[in-house]
Amino acid sequence: MTETETASRASSQTDASKYILTFDKIGNADIPSVGGKNASLGEMISALAASGINVPSGFALTTETYRDFLRSNQLEGLINGQMARLNRSELGLAEVGQTIRHAILEGEWPEEIRAAIVESYRDLAFETETNGPDVAVRSSPTAEDLPDASFAGQQESFLHVQGESNLLHTCKRCFASLFTDRAISYREQKGFRHESVALSVGVQRMVRSDLGASGIIFTIDTETGCPDVIVISAAYGLGDNVVQGAVTPDEYRVFKPLLSDGSKAPIIGKSLGSKELRLVYDQAWGGRVRNARTPFTDQFRFALDDDQILKLARWAVEIESHYDRPMDIEWALDGNTDELYIVQARPETVHSRKRRKILASARLVLEEGEAPEVLLEGQAVGRGIVSGRAVVMRNVWDSKKFNRGDIIVAKETNPDWVPLMKIAGGLVTDAGGRTSHAAIVCRELGIPAVIGTGKATESFFYGQEITLVCEGGRGLVYRGAIPHEETSVDLETLPESPIPLMLNLANPDAAMEWWELPTSGVGLVRMEFIITNILKVHPMAVATLDTNRRTEFAVQVEKMAPQFESPREFFVQSLAMGIGMIAASAYPDPAIVRFSDLKTNEYANLVGGRGFEPVEQNPMLGFRGASRYYHEDYRPGFELECEAIKRVRGKMGFRNVIVMIPFCRTVEEADRVLEVMAECGLERGKDDLHVYMMAEIPSNIVLADQFADRFDGFSIGSNDLTQLVLGIDRDSEKLQPLFDEGNEAVKTMISQLISIAHGAGKKVGICGQAPSDCPDFARFLVDQGIDSISLNPDSVIDISRKLAEPRRGA
Ligand code: PEP
Ligand code: MG
Repeated sequence: MTETETASRASSQTDASKYILTFDKIGNADIPSVGGKNASLGEMISALAASGINVPSGFALTTETYRDFLRSNQLEGLINGQMARLNRSELGLAEVGQTIRHAILEGEWPEEIRAAIVESYRDLAFETETNGPDVAVRSSPTAEDLPDASFAGQQESFLHVQGESNLLHTCKRCFASLFTDRAISYREQKGFRHESVALSVGVQRMVRSDLGASGIIFTIDTETGCPDVIVISAAYGLGDNVVQGAVTPDEYRVFKPLLSDGSKAPIIGKSLGSKELRLVYDQAWGGRVRNARTPFTDQFRFALDDDQILKLARWAVEIESHYDRPMDIEWALDGNTDELYIVQARPETVHSRKRRKILASARLVLEEGEAPEVLLEGQAVGRGIVSGRAVVMRNVWDSKKFNRGDIIVAKETNPDWVPLMKIAGGLVTDAGGRTSHAAIVCRELGIPAVIGTGKATESFFYGQEITLVCEGGRGLVYRGAIPHEETSVDLETLPESPIPLMLNLANPDAAMEWWELPTSGVGLVRMEFIITNILKVHPMAVATLDTNRRTEFAVQVEKMAPQFESPREFFVQSLAMGIGMIAASAYPDPAIVRFSDLKTNEYANLVGGRGFEPVEQNPMLGFRGASRYYHEDYRPGFELECEAIKRVRGKMGFRNVIVMIPFCRTVEEADRVLEVMAECGLERGKDDLHVYMMAEIPSNIVLADQFADRFDGFSIGSNDLTQLVLGIDRDSEKLQPLFDEGNEAVKTMISQLISIAHGAGKKVGICGQAPSDCPDFARFLVDQGIDSISLNPDSVIDISRKLAEPRRGA
C-alpha cells in the first residue's frame, strides 16, 4: 500500500467512525452520540465478549448520521416549516406527521454514509459466514436536554431485517419513527425542540430464537433470595412470552459454588413448563411476530439440555461478577446454529434489595375478657395461627369445593395429599402423631396443623370458619375467624447456640427457604419423602422394568415424566436433583441423607408398588430399613438409591453428602448393607464418603461399640427409639400420653450411646422429633455431650434461644 493509499484509508476510517461505531467500541460514555439504548448494549458487549460470552455483534449509526442525512436531503427546512404550520394550526397533526415521514423515507442516503452502512453490514455477513445476515434494527433516540431520551416508548424496532437495501430502508424507517404523530405531540406538549432530538440506530445480528428458544436468568434465587442459586427459565421461540409470563417456561436451578469446577454439573432443579405457545416470525406477514402452538413432542421435553443449562449458568456467574451485583439476564438460543447468546443484562432489583426476616411466632388479638370457644384439641405442628374455611374431605379426590387457603379436615394424609396441602391454609386430622406424614409435610410447608384430634371429620360443617392455633406442641381449633398478629425475628439478633444445630429437611422445594438460618448443615434428609412426593413410583417397579415391553407401569411413568429418556433415568435423576437441592441448601456443611425408610404399607401405595410388598400385621416392626437393602426383594431398588447418591456426590459435586442407614437391627445387617453399598460404588471411606447409622433400636445401643466399628457416626432416632424402648406404637392416639422421650429409660439409653460412641471416637447427633418440641430435652442432650442437634426448621429460633439462656442456679 502506498503512503497516499494508507492516508486515504485512515481518513475514510475516521469518517466512517463519525457515522458508525461497532458495538464493541461503545460504552456508557457514548450516550450523546448513540443514545441510551445503544450505549448500554455496547457497554455489555464490550464488557462480556472478552470473557468468552457470546453476545450478538452489531453496530450503531450515530446521531451524526441522522443529522447528515437530514441535511443532505434538506429535510430540516421541511420539518421546521411543517412544525411552524402545525403551530399556526394551518395543518393538522396527522398531515404534518405523514408529510415528514414520507419525506424521510423518500430521502437519498449520502454516498459516504450508504457505503459505511453497507460495509458494516458486510462485515457482519463475513463474521457470520452468511450472505445477508438477519439483523434487528432498533431506534435509540437522544435529546440534548434529556441525554437518555428513551421516553414514552417511541422507539421503533424492526426484527428480522435481511439484505442491504432492506437494511438501508429500515434505517430510514427508524428515522421516520421519530415523527410519528404520537412522538410529535409528545415533544410539543413537553416543550422539547424538534431539532434538539436526534436518533441513533442500532443494527444487531438477529439470534434466530424464533427457531430455537429463549428466556431469562436470575443470578439469585427468585423464591428465597439465596445468592448461591441461579434460576434459568426457558421456552421456545422469541423471548417475549417468557418475559410477559404468557407461557409457563421450564425452570432450571443451578448451584453456583460448584460451577467453577468444569467437570461438575450442579443442576439442582429442572421443572418442565407447559410451553404451549412459541413466538415466531410470520414470513407471510412481513416478518411480524405471532404466537404459534408448540408441537406436543417439544412441550414434553426440556427446551435446553444440561450442557446448555450449565453454559448459561457459567456465563451468568461471569456477568454477575463483572457487574458486581445480582443480575437479570436475557438469553437466546439460535435455532439455526444451536449457539447460545446473551442479549441483555441488567441489575436484579426485587430480591437483592429485600432484607429477609424469618417468621417466628404469632398470637391471637383478643378483646379484654374475650374467651374464644375451643372446638377441638390435638397436637400442634409448627408454630403459627391461621383462620379459614374448614373443608371436611373423605379422600383427596373430594377436593372440588376446596379453594386456596381453606383448611383441610381429614382422617389422615398420605403423599397423594401433598399437592392440596401446598395450597391449604392449614390442616386438621383425626389420626396421626407428631411424626406422621401430615406432621412432617405441614412442618416443611410451614402451614399450621392440628393433628390427632380423634374426631375432626365429624366436628365441622362445610365452609365453617375456624382458627388453628399451634404453639408449644399443643394445637387448638377455635370457632370463627379470630384476628391474630405475627412477629418476625431478625436473625442477626439470635444468640449463638452452645452446640451445632442442624435441620431436618425432606422437601427439596422448600429447602432453600431456610438458607439464612444459622445452622451447621442438614441432620436428616428422609429420602423416602422425596420418593413419595416427587417420584411417586416404587423403586422395585422401576428397577425391574423390562425396557423392551410397554407394560402398563411403563406407560404410566412415561405419562408422569415424558421428559426423561427412561423410567430409570427419571428415578435416578429426579432423586439426585431432590437430594442435590437439599445438599445445596447446606453446602459446604454436611447433609446427612438417609436411605429410604418407608413401611411396607407405604411402599405398597407407590405407583407399581403393590406387587412388591407383603401385607404385614405390624409394618412398624416389619420389612423396613437396613433389612430391605441387601434382601433380594428390594436390593435392585436400593441400587437405584445408591446410584442417585453417587450422582449427587460425583457428577453434581456435592461431596458434603453423608449417607445414613436406618433401622439396622443387627451388626450382621450392618455388614451386609455396607457390602452391597460398596458393590454399588459407595464404599465407606472412598471419595470421603462417610456412612452414619440411625441409633433407634435398643440393639443399636446395647451393641454400640460394635456398630461404632462399622460407621462414621450415629444419629439418634428418638421416635423409633422411644417406641421400641417403651413398647408403644408411635402412631397410637390412645397411647400418646405415654409416648415420652423424656422417660428415664429412653434417656438412659441415649446417655449410654453417647458415652460409648465418644469412647470409640465417633460423633453422635440426634434427628428425632423430641428436641424440636421440648427445650428441656434439648438441654438434656447438650448436658450429655451430644455433638449436634437436628431440628425442624420452625423450631430452630426457639430452641437456640432456649439453649442460650443461662441455667437456673447456674
Ligand atoms: C426417628 O425414628 O426418630 C427418626 C428420625 O426416623 P423416622 O421418624 O423417619 O422413623
Ligand atoms: Mg426412625
